[in-house]
Amino acid sequence: MCADIISSQHRSLIMRNIKGRNTKPELTVRSLCHSMGLRFRLHQKYLPGCPDLVFPKYHLCIFVNGCFWHQHPGCRYAYRPKSRVEFWLPKLARNTERDKENEHALKALGWQVEIVWECETKNLEQLRARIQGMLPQSLTKAIE
Ligand SMILES: [Zn+2]
Repeated sequence: MCADIISSQHRSLIMRNIKGRNTKPELTVRSLCHSMGLRFRLHQKYLPGCPDLVFPKYHLCIFVNGCFWHQHPGCRYAYRPKSRVEFWLPKLARNTERDKENEHALKALGWQVEIVWECETKNLEQLRARIQGMLPQSLTKAIE
């Protein structure tokens, strides 16, 4: 998708998605975690950045991030807009800055912080393996 031809209507749609909860990638991660028998809470506002999934038992937070909005490094969906650069670039920079701050703050509180990128939610088997990799070793065996 070329940023230059994003209609204003479409732009407002993706604008909404940044703060949007319950996005499709997020729902994918949730239902997968659910099928793995994991217990989690959603959008814990008392935690920095309001993580999308919180696993209190493992002290684990997962953010499900849109590749464009959070500028997934090296990802083809994280293109830099060519038009209205003065609007987009500071905005995207702020997002990534905020992500880093939240991650820092959470780690300082003793949380393990993981990010699942939108593009990683397209392959469920790989996603499952990634999530297993975030969990304590003993538990991983129990799920298998
Ligand atoms: Zn990506």
